[in-house]
Amino acid sequence: MTPLSLDQPWGRGLSATHEHLFADGDALPTKNFLPRGLGRSYGDVCVNDGGALLHSFRRDRLISFDEVHGVLRCEAGASLADIAQVMVPRGWFPSVVPGTRYVTVGGAIANDVHGKNHHIAGTFGRSVQSIKLRRSDTGAREIGTTDPTFGATVAGLGLTGLIEEATLQLGVLPGPGIAQDTTVFGGAGNIDDYVSLDEASSAWPYTVGWIDTLDPGLRGVFFRGEHCDGPDEWLAPQPAKFTMPVDAPGWVLGRWSAKAFNSVYYRAQSMRTARRETVPLWQFFFPLDAVTAWNRVYGKRGFVQYQFVVPREAARESVPKILSHLRESRVASYLAVIKSFAAIASPGLMSFPMPGVTVALDVPGPNDADRRALDRADAMVADVGGRVYAAKDARMSSVMFKRFYPQWEALEAARDPAICSSFWRRVTR
Ligand SMILES: Cc1cc2nc3c(=O)[nH]c(=O)nc-3n(C[C@H](O)[C@H](O)[C@H](O)COP(=O)(O)OP(=O)(O)OC[C@H]3O[C@@H](n4cnc5c(N)ncnc54)[C@H](O)[C@@H]3O)c2cc1C
Repeated sequence: MTPLSLDQPWGRGLSATHEHLFADGDALPTKNFLPRGLGRSYGDVCVNDGGALLHSFRRDRLISFDEVHGVLRCEAGASLADIAQVMVPRGWFPSVVPGTRYVTVGGAIANDVHGKNHHIAGTFGRSVQSIKLRRSDTGAREIGTTDPTFGATVAGLGLTGLIEEATLQLGVLPGPGIAQDTTVFGGAGNIDDYVSLDEASSAWPYTVGWIDTLDPGLRGVFFRGEHCDGPDEWLAPQPAKFTMPVDAPGWVLGRWSAKAFNSVYYRAQSMRTARRETVPLWQFFFPLDAVTAWNRVYGKRGFVQYQFVVPREAARESVPKILSHLRESRVASYLAVIKSFAAIASPGLMSFPMPGVTVALDVPGPNDADRRALDRADAMVADVGGRVYAAKDARMSSVMFKRFYPQWEALEAARDPAICSSFWRRVTR
């Protein structure tokens, strides 16, 4: 698996020039480089304009596996796609997966990614037992969970060194199916229905909602799922069904097409006859992987994914407020995801999740007015003690970043002096 574009992040929309190096041997560059996985971060945490990218995806061996306890040692360039493909038929699955399987273990650690089971399992970093980290100044060493460098490396945005290997606890998999339950919600302009559904589903291992942020009623669809058995052909991932062959032209993207798209999606979901069905786990966890290069749907100008979290006490009031601010500012938004985070401590110093509600929305080719509206949304998020997710960001100001992550100086102190990213230069200046 190679990244789709070596110079851009997944959200595209920015151009950068890099020297491309491969993490094949033991020597690290001595200046201005950034470790890179599969470039599935939406913004510039995986970009180092004017410097080097040290690609790790060729270092992808699965080194050893303890079949009794489900403990895997692998190189950090292995992707969750590789791991799942090998482990699903053996009855194991990564403990936490994001919405695409095309991320490396190194990338999943460096952003401390979360998935649909945050309320049960917390973040990816919690499944990491140890890391082999190589720095340009002190060389390689194994770090366990009690080592302070562990906390700086998990959600450390690649800045503390090259993660070469990791030991991961996988989860037991009863079968390749997911029993999925779907409920439509909302219409009253608040998130009360969503919160009630979510609270009533806390025993389900996987929960997530889709919300139409352009609808003043904030209608949505709530999904919950649990592992179950399924036919043997579901053990292997189905290949992508479609490749986006060209960039969509800019004129098809905008507020009206977003509104139309959201309406069609909502109607399709509300008219479905089966509210409970069994689907292959690949489809449940990674629906977007069915379309290769789906980021071209947003055209050459790319898109910003705006993901924020607000504390639980503030969520009922502030989420509708922030979404109506964006709607009234005429910010177009397609697929928006809503999810609750539980009070499960993340091991990373800079981890994004906090107990509360997170919303992630795609804004195609943002213009100046969209950017101003997003800046204002940042302030609304900060005012209630929330934060914006660095893995998705390409635009937040340095002032806001420092409000969201006041602990950033501790990461700066732990940074490998030869490593930097466009993101880090932008938000710490
Ligand atoms: C369709 C889609 C859905 C997604 N859904 C979710 C989701 O549900 N939850 C979520 O949390 N995220 C989600 N993401 C974001 C994605 O999971 C993260 O951005 C992830 O970190 C990308 O991994 P990568 O291997 O592509 O790393 P890259 O994007 O290449 O790099 C990410 C960071 O990791 C660092 N890094 C990479 N490899 C190493 C290494 N070996 N050593 C040290 N540092 C390294 C880089 O320097 C960079 O800072 C999604 C992304 C997409 C495209």
